Amino acid sequence: MNVNQSAPPVPPFGQPQPVYPGYHQSSYGGQPGSTAPPTSYGAYNGPVPGYQQTPPPGVSRAPPSSEAPPASTAQAPCGQAAYGQFGQGDVQNGPSSTVQMQRFPGSQPFGSVPLAPVVSQPAVLQPFGPPPTSAQVTGQLAGMQISGAVAPALPPVGLGYGPPTSLASASGSFPNSGLYGSYPQGQAPPLSQGQGHLGAQPPQRSAPPQASSFTSPASGGPRMPSMTGPLLPGQGFGGPSVSQPNHVSSPPPQALPPGSQMTGPPGPPPPMHSSQQPGYQLQQNGSFGQARGPQPNYGSPYPGASTFGSQPGPPQPLPPKRLDPDAIPSPIQVIEDDRNNRGSEPFVTGVRGQVPPLVTTNFLVKDQGNASPRYIRCTSYNIPCTSDMAKQAQVPLAAVIKPLARLPPEEASPYVVDHGESGPLRCNRCKAYMCPFMQFIEGGRRFQCCFCSCINDVPPQYFQHLDHTGKRVDAYDRPELSLGSYEFLATVDYCKNNKFPSPPAFIFMIDVSYNAIRSGLVRLLCEELKSLLDFLPREGGAEESAIRVGFVTYNKVLHFYNVKSSLAQPQMMVVSDVADMFVPLLDGFLVNVSESRAVITSLLDQIPEMFADTRETETVFAPVIQAGMEALKAAECAGKLFLFHTSLPIAEAPGKLKNRDDRKLINTDKEKTLFQPQTGAYQTLAKECVAQGCCVDLFLFPNQYVDVATLSVVPQLTGGSVYKYACFQVENDQERFLSDLRRDVQKVVGFDAVMRVRTSTGIRAVDFFGAFYMSNTTDVELAGLDGDKTVTVEFKHDDRLNEESGALLQCALLYTSCAGQRRLRIHNLALNCCTQLADLYRNCETDTLINYMAKFAYRGVLNSPVKTVRDTLITQCAQILACYRKNCASPSSAGQLILPECMKLLPVYLNCVLKSDVLQPGAEVTTDDRAYVRQLVTSMDVAETNVFFYPRLLPLTKSPIESATEPPAVRASEERLSNGDIYLLENGLNLFLWVGASVQQGVVQSLFSVSSFSQITSGLSVLPVLDNPLSKKVRGLIDSLRAQRSRYMKLIVVKQEDKLEMLFKHFLVEDKSLSGGASYVDFLCHMHKEIRQLLS
Ligand SMILES: [Zn+2]
Repeated sequence: MNVNQSAPPVPPFGQPQPVYPGYHQSSYGGQPGSTAPPTSYGAYNGPVPGYQQTPPPGVSRAPPSSEAPPASTAQAPCGQAAYGQFGQGDVQNGPSSTVQMQRFPGSQPFGSVPLAPVVSQPAVLQPFGPPPTSAQVTGQLAGMQISGAVAPALPPVGLGYGPPTSLASASGSFPNSGLYGSYPQGQAPPLSQGQGHLGAQPPQRSAPPQASSFTSPASGGPRMPSMTGPLLPGQGFGGPSVSQPNHVSSPPPQALPPGSQMTGPPGPPPPMHSSQQPGYQLQQNGSFGQARGPQPNYGSPYPGASTFGSQPGPPQPLPPKRLDPDAIPSPIQVIEDDRNNRGSEPFVTGVRGQVPPLVTTNFLVKDQGNASPRYIRCTSYNIPCTSDMAKQAQVPLAAVIKPLARLPPEEASPYVVDHGESGPLRCNRCKAYMCPFMQFIEGGRRFQCCFCSCINDVPPQYFQHLDHTGKRVDAYDRPELSLGSYEFLATVDYCKNNKFPSPPAFIFMIDVSYNAIRSGLVRLLCEELKSLLDFLPREGGAEESAIRVGFVTYNKVLHFYNVKSSLAQPQMMVVSDVADMFVPLLDGFLVNVSESRAVITSLLDQIPEMFADTRETETVFAPVIQAGMEALKAAECAGKLFLFHTSLPIAEAPGKLKNRDDRKLINTDKEKTLFQPQTGAYQTLAKECVAQGCCVDLFLFPNQYVDVATLSVVPQLTGGSVYKYACFQVENDQERFLSDLRRDVQKVVGFDAVMRVRTSTGIRAVDFFGAFYMSNTTDVELAGLDGDKTVTVEFKHDDRLNEESGALLQCALLYTSCAGQRRLRIHNLALNCCTQLADLYRNCETDTLINYMAKFAYRGVLNSPVKTVRDTLITQCAQILACYRKNCASPSSAGQLILPECMKLLPVYLNCVLKSDVLQPGAEVTTDDRAYVRQLVTSMDVAETNVFFYPRLLPLTKSPIESATEPPAVRASEERLSNGDIYLLENGLNLFLWVGASVQQGVVQSLFSVSSFSQITSGLSVLPVLDNPLSKKVRGLIDSLRAQRSRYMKLIVVKQEDKLEMLFKHFLVEDKSLSGGASYVDFLCHMHKEIRQLLS
């Protein structure tokens, strides 16, 4: 019996090379009863048998009809040129109706209340419930504190477009801090209550604490309070001290023993991980978690870090001041600290419950038994033992899972393990797959399931002796016993109809209506496909892709093409009966690219000519998808449809849509209808697609409203992607489109997939977010899943958890590879469990929390008024922070805002979510933009949501030109812009180059090849290629930023005080937005007020 023929060629913990042993074994086909395929899978059925070979009625060889002249609607000029190149709709604008205003009646504009100081602290170990005693407090790590009475400026109630208020007055150092142009700098806006205090009293800066007191925690460990922050001046204010992230302003620095942080949580994984096995060994034996020594990271309260609890005296009542933006937690600082502390050492996954480095930190991962954070990130790595605790904290327990994540070249793909004809070894009861946490007992003859505790027999062929520690002696030779992530070859039991799958197919379906032809899209696309078809995904060392291709063009009828290799010329077959779609040909429709190359090339040459004179403006949409799906069904394979579509499908056909865009619905209870599909037909269609393993990628080229909310239903439910190029023009947009297309066509996809997340007793997966379909409550069905897509899973308690055994997740993805191989990819992750709330707060990951919260909120807009969704988010955030304050923070005055160290960025990031286009759209954000962003975010991973909500702003001339590294980012606020500098801003979808008005002439010349600022073309999207260091550096940086993102970011050059600057400023998310979104400072004050209300 062959068990694991894939002995790793390298020692156990080297990063193994994937191997594909035994795939061609002929011994498959056994039907072991014990390895039942996932239950849901049985529901699949094979292709419909009744495929008809005879050409059905309606088929003709007539050329495409030229019909009605272009309808006026379809020709409407693109009214939003500026946004056309900017179609992703990230503009931060919106109506003035803001939560704060609605929530707080005029008498109480938020922020006008004397504000509280902000303190961020690491959680401390202390009993939750009663307030900490002083003795307990002495055991604390210091946090940062921001205290000081604050009255953030607020727009007057009811005044939607509040002028720059707090920020403007806050800095004083930037000439351009008057925001948004409409209010000249320094000009007083209409005063609100709070504004009376503004500027009246510049912040007094107390002496900064000694830097040495805050030197970084040991690197490599769980992300601990970062104490390396710049020692920004504390806010003396005479009152409650306004503290600063990462430092304490009062008590005086000397109260803090230098280095006290160092005695806190030991950072790095203990030495044992970096050497060989201890630690790992423990995991192997003894039931998971048991034999382990005290968790190195959390074993004891931070000894020695004694000072912080007792500091701030009672706040003295003072006139409210405003917060200094420098004194509140800075995303930039947190990111920098994590890079410095954790970027140099590999993240070794051998220890349960370790918080990984931030997504913004470059680090390598060594798999020693838990899945890499590239595959799974959790909101917390320490789960409350009871549901009561979890409810009290309100911290969502969720995992963001990216099962097919691409890895950096230094990290190898998961091993493929072959358990032979009996298939992967699983628990008989819960069907969990063999993993490092299963416990072998009785000399190795049986194993106890780490998920359900069931005792299982070890099949004779899998038997192995145990060593003196109880570990199998072959543990390190077997990926499934030693690694967090690996793959199993699936047997035929895991295949539809008990039949190994055929290789998948790609079908290109091209809109050839008037708009598509006129914009140049069709010609561009056909030309590109000729070469792109040589780069279809391949597996391993395969010489050519196994994927077959087919072609369809359409307007209000469909044209299928026979591109069989034996033909001299392609043949077209027209199906005009779109109400009852069928595929008019089977043989010759899906072909191998190299065999049919001549015919395909001929077809792609002819398509633009055939339709060059079309006047057909109407399109169908659902019948196109239906046709592609039927073609895959007839070919008995899974696959992907690439749809290139331009307009609202108004032609008479199933799935016909009408223009129902109505901006008057914004901020009403009916706003949710804008996000809902206008017909149920697409859900039904999507369900059929999923059953066939037909994934749909949609490229949209709209000149006006196309109802993205409805058109994206099928891509969304089939695991596909949507791309949108508003007002597409070849000359302006071809680079972005072609770049996205190339990447999309080439990316590796798992087809016809089912994902199941199993958990150990006590918690279970209860909710799922992402691009997929679910027909029951446990199985995530994905017609296709690529390496960019994530599935977010929320967990709830159904029993009490145990600190000793912790909690386990196992994500199993069954899929068909690009070569048609059926496989299971397994990711395992062990988490800690806690009885102290402080442990929860100390092991959270805010970036992941925000990813979850954004997805939760974006789904919420389908069913609830946007205001309700926003309020829910704010309330939840306040509850999370209030619970920390009540149970974990040091005693201090109610006037202080105390934030957990790991969550000190929660307010700033949450504010960015609240201000996003989906939840608070500006006047120029279209309904389609909102729907588009909504569905994009649903599948984003943590790194993508992080930069999407809080864009990266990089100054370009501050760092030496020679410097090869990326310049350090600055905070996304206008205050941080210097008019003598140039900045890049990116958020994963958009890329701006902002040029200050006083930039040196030499810089202008070097970058733009013009002699003065005024000669720079605003809106420029390509920098001239110039042979000088600055030009090379900036273009290199742009390339590097693009390479980091999954979608091409088109560059827009913005000149200071130019019209386009408004666009750019929407991304300065710490500032108050034109649509009424609060500034960071104001929002923090608001959040503090909410927390105080909860505590009182
Ligand atoms: Zn089990």
